[in-house]
Amino acid sequence: MDSNSKIFVAGHNGLVGSAIVRHLEEQGFTNIITVSRFECDLTDQNAVKIFFMMEQPEYVFLAAAKVGGIGGNSNYKGQYFYENILINTNVIEAARQAGVQNLVSFLSTCVFPDKVSYPLTVDQVHQGDPHDSNYPYAYAKRMADIQIRAYREQYNINYTSIIPSNIYGPNDNFSLEHGHVMPMLIHKLYLAKKNKTDFIVWGSGKPLREFIYSKDIAKIAEWVLFNYKGTDPLIVSGDEEISIKDLVGILVDEFKFKGKVRFDKTKPDGQLRKPSDNSAIKELMP
Ligand code: GDP
Repeated sequence: MDSNSKIFVAGHNGLVGSAIVRHLEEQGFTNIITVSRFECDLTDQNAVKIFFMMEQPEYVFLAAAKVGGIGGNSNYKGQYFYENILINTNVIEAARQAGVQNLVSFLSTCVFPDKVSYPLTVDQVHQGDPHDSNYPYAYAKRMADIQIRAYREQYNINYTSIIPSNIYGPNDNFSLEHGHVMPMLIHKLYLAKKNKTDFIVWGSGKPLREFIYSKDIAKIAEWVLFNYKGTDPLIVSGDEEISIKDLVGILVDEFKFKGKVRFDKTKPDGQLRKPSDNSAIKELMP
């Protein structure tokens, strides 16, 4: 690896992919490859194969995915399953065929079973059904883990996955229906302040989440791509759980919002908590 290594970032417009591109540029990498979905639709097997054959990247970050928060996962179950399973399958296989030796893909702590013992550990990923609110996405992402494990064993290539907790940062999806909790709350709070209306938060406010900033994920992902030789996926998460209610409190203070905050209990809470064991990455990268 050197600053001229050819690195393909799949999903460069998204939350994680854009953070990776910014980080690589800051580190002086000069040969970063990206592609728009109009030039290469990653759900199209032939298009992906041709793209890899033409570009011949040496390293790959697979940060492309059809993602959403609890609303998106509930409303687009079929689409989330279909698109994610195709994106993973196509990109990992095309990378292998093109001779890529190092690839990092991104799963999510929502791949874990609903009934699980805490903290979440990588040996539990496949040990039961995921939470009902996001099982199609979770199963599609679990298959990326299986594909990578199988490819490592058969082809002896250094492919791996990062399992991040809830990420936030620039270029997130700020949709008012399908985004993740952080960008949706920011967007709703902005509108509530501007329009002098109540600020509506979904659910009870009791669920706990571990948040991590996209730039931190990008930094760690770079290290993993170039240095990690282990077989297990790596959980990358913040150390602290915070309740949605406390997160709302922080955002309300930041916005100096003086209006009313209402918790809409007709909306789902999702998993109550998902504290995760990040000791492996901390040991590798203190
Ligand atoms: P998850 O962490 O995979 O469950 O996905 P999300 O990022 O969508 O977070 C969902 C949690 O945030 C649930 O407990 C929701 O009840 C809560 N939440 C509160 N308000 C919102 C909101 O406006 N949008 C979303 N997506 N979640 C919200």
